[in-house]
Order: sequence, then C-alpha cells, then structure tokens
Amino acid sequence: MDISKLLYLNESSTKFAGFNKESSPFVIIGAPLDITSSYRPGSRFAPLAIRNSAQTLEFLSLRTGIDIGDIGFNDVGDVIMHPSDVEENINRIASVVSYFKDANKIPIVLGGEHTVTIGSVKGFEDPSICILDFDAHFDLRDEYMGYKYDHACVMRRLWEYGVKIFEIGTRAISREELDFANKNGINYITSPEVKLLGHREVARKVINSFSECKKLYITYDMDALDPSVAPAVATPEPEGLDLSTVLDIVNLVVEGLSNRTKVVGFDVVEFSPPYDATGVTAIVASKLIIETTAIIAKHYKNLLSLATKS
Ligand code: MN
Ligand code: MN
Repeated sequence: MDISKLLYLNESSTKFAGFNKESSPFVIIGAPLDITSSYRPGSRFAPLAIRNSAQTLEFLSLRTGIDIGDIGFNDVGDVIMHPSDVEENINRIASVVSYFKDANKIPIVLGGEHTVTIGSVKGFEDPSICILDFDAHFDLRDEYMGYKYDHACVMRRLWEYGVKIFEIGTRAISREELDFANKNGINYITSPEVKLLGHREVARKVINSFSECKKLYITYDMDALDPSVAPAVATPEPEGLDLSTVLDIVNLVVEGLSNRTKVVGFDVVEFSPPYDATGVTAIVASKLIIETTAIIAKHYKNLLSLATKS
C-alpha cells in the first residue's frame, strides 16, 4: 500500500525527542484528529507539543535500566486529517498503523482525541487484541447527541469490534455505561480503588484478566491522570491517578504477560495544548511515552538488536 499520500512528512519539523532513527522498532505517528471534543478542543496541536517537550527529557530509564538513546524512534510525521469526516480519519489512521504493523514496527500514536484509538486498534486487523485503557471515563456510550463516533463512544465501538477491554482510573461515568460494563464483562478499576489496592494488586488483576491475550494495546487518555498532574486535557476530572502509579502498573503488566503476550502498540490521547499554560502536561505525555517504550524494550530484548541493525 502507498501510504505516502496519507502522511504529512515535513522534514524540517521537530521529530519526537529529536530522533529519526529509521531502524528503530518504535514508530511515532501523529494523529491530530480533533473534531468531537465537547468541552476543550485543541488536541490537534498535541503531536507537535509532545515532540517539542520530549527533546528536554533524559533517555535513560531508571525504572527499567533501558537507555532509549540506544533504540531511538522513527518519527514518520502526522496522518493528514480530513477537516470534518471522523470516520474517514479513523480509516486513514488504521491504514497507516496497518502499514507499520506489517513492517514489524510498534506504532506509538500521538492523538488527537480518543477517537484516534478506534483507527489505531483496527489497524492491527485482529479483533482478539486486548486493550488496557487508562481513562477517567468509560467511553462506553452507544452514541453522544446522536453520533456514534464521538470520543465518548470509543470503547463501545471497540467492544463491538470484538476486543477485550480493561479500564483503569474510571471515575466519571453514566448509569447506561455502568450497566453496560457490568453486563458485558468489561473489567474496570476506579481511581479510588487503584489507590486502595496499590499498583501490584491492580497489575495482578489485569494479568489475570488478560491471561489468554496474544496481543496487548495500551491507550492512555491523559484525563486518567489527576488534573494536578496533567491539567491540559479536553475533559478534566478530579480524583485521578498519578504518573508513577500508571507506569508501575504498566511495568508489572507487561512483565507479567511477556511470556505469551506482545505489546503491539500504544497511544497518548486527549491532551489539549491550548490549556497547557505551564507546559507540564506536554512533559508528562512525553515521559509517559519514553517510559512505556523503555518498559516494552526491557521485556522484548530482541527489539534492541533490531534497533541497532540499520
Ligand atoms: Mn477517553
Ligand atoms: Mn477521558
């Protein structure tokens, strides 16, 4: 497939963390889809803001002992978005992700709103994929104001696709969504429960639930984090998670599943830079990406040898 018409490759633009290492197994794909946000739009500016802030972070991950400088990223630019057609944009994202999946790469998708994840997950062309979703919201509405591809309906569309879903950080839900989750075996741990249980017990529950999964995709809706940690999100919600807890959960889950499950990709969505007065949300998003990349690299050591081949 010729995906060059779907990607905006501006050679002079900033690359993620300053990298464009073509041999890296990690591909950065910007997906500035920003159409259905009801409250604070602006996530179309997130890929650029994340790329810029990532330049300021160190690459050695103490949590994992992995030096991201050895692996790098292959930043392929942004998917070109239709100005108003959400479903067309979901298909474009799916096509680009599918292309890099076929090239044995691990896509890291920079949203954009959460709707991006529908395209990204469908790009793997495998409904048996498991999704670990960090989010304040269920995103399980069947429709929002009559529209089925709203960012409040993301997990509902993916559930219809057939994927297995585990949500962490839940705290802003509707009665309809709660009934749906309980009736349809969608696992979730609320943010107060995460605090009570601790990251080890949360990770154990995820590992048990995903024990049959061959492929894992992680989606970080930035509003899973507390607004004091990540203030610039489209729909802020108090009583959220802290960054270390999220990363410690992911570290244990990826380790616990590493014998039988491959992390195929992940995304960071719902960051809205116009509300990022201090720039701290961009740094948090960048740290999330660098640490998650290090966690994946640690548990799939052959990735390192792939990266050094050029
Ligand atoms: Mn969401
Ligand atoms: Mn959310």
